[in-house]
Amino acid sequence: MTSHGSARRSTTPTACRSTSPAAEPVHQDSARRILLAAPRGFCAGVERAVATVERVLERHGPPVYVRKEIVHNRRVVEELRSRGAVFVEDTDQVPEGAVVILSAHGVAPTVHADAARRRLRVIDATCPLVTKVHREAQRFARDDYDILLIGHAGHEEVIGTLGQAPDRIHLVDGPHDAASVQVRDETKVAWLSQTTLSVDETRATVQALQARFPALAGPAGEDICYATQNRQTAVRRIAARSDLVLVLGSANSSNSQRLAEVARNAGARAAHLVDSAAHIDDSWLDGTTTIGLTSGASAPESLVTETLHWLAQRGWHRIETVTVTTETQHFALPHSLTKPA
Ligand code: SF4
Repeated sequence: MTSHGSARRSTTPTACRSTSPAAEPVHQDSARRILLAAPRGFCAGVERAVATVERVLERHGPPVYVRKEIVHNRRVVEELRSRGAVFVEDTDQVPEGAVVILSAHGVAPTVHADAARRRLRVIDATCPLVTKVHREAQRFARDDYDILLIGHAGHEEVIGTLGQAPDRIHLVDGPHDAASVQVRDETKVAWLSQTTLSVDETRATVQALQARFPALAGPAGEDICYATQNRQTAVRRIAARSDLVLVLGSANSSNSQRLAEVARNAGARAAHLVDSAAHIDDSWLDGTTTIGLTSGASAPESLVTETLHWLAQRGWHRIETVTVTTETQHFALPHSLTKPA
């Protein structure tokens, strides 16, 4: 585990402001507007992970090996690749003795063991909030609990957390799994969750588990991270007022997928997850007046800027930013990078 800063949730009150009313044209486009969610885009864990790769590229020069996509975003991965990052599926593809960066999603202890066998120099960009979940899993396993991990099968973060105590953790992929999961002792059961889930769905799953296991224990604080919660709150706020919600993010980004789902559930007529403005279908704009716009925690702000430009070319000039909180979180780089080279 690497060193990190604090992760306090902001308490800044809700605020709404219109950012460019002067740009509103006087013809039929005047009703058209964009509701821009805030917070959106990069979270503290993604900023740290991307900065880690950039710092290692500066310090060691290319190639720099990264196990898995450093964060789940096509634009980020393409840009880092163009600068010399080499993304591999596993450590056995890294030359012996080389530097390898582990992605923000976290890994099972077996990955560290494999890297040590190959004498790799590991720089761990696991988000500190994922590491917190790993520690909770280790603590419950030490106390001989069966751990019910709420999460999506196959996601890299889930694979890493399952690996913390493979004999003790069972995956619960939604409320339907709560009825069938098997445990050794119904009085010694604890739940944990993936950090990027839907807040509402996870609450429903926890309630189903509590109904079945009245003694169910849980994490000390919420596992769903501040960034996931804030982005869902913000998109919920704009979705209720939008005909169409566009979520910028990649298809393999869990928190981005959840934003599109939350928008649909919150009343948007339609919500689409797109990698960039180039993937927006013009036909989605038919009959649309208000467009909600947000971006996942791994999506860079350049994607938002490009999309605003694309929409302006089609008559959406007026932008109203809807801010539900202001984030102040920051995580320091991994310890090995803060020491002199
Ligand atoms: Fe960390 Fe949350 Fe960002 Fe994931 S989404 S990297 S858990 S802050």
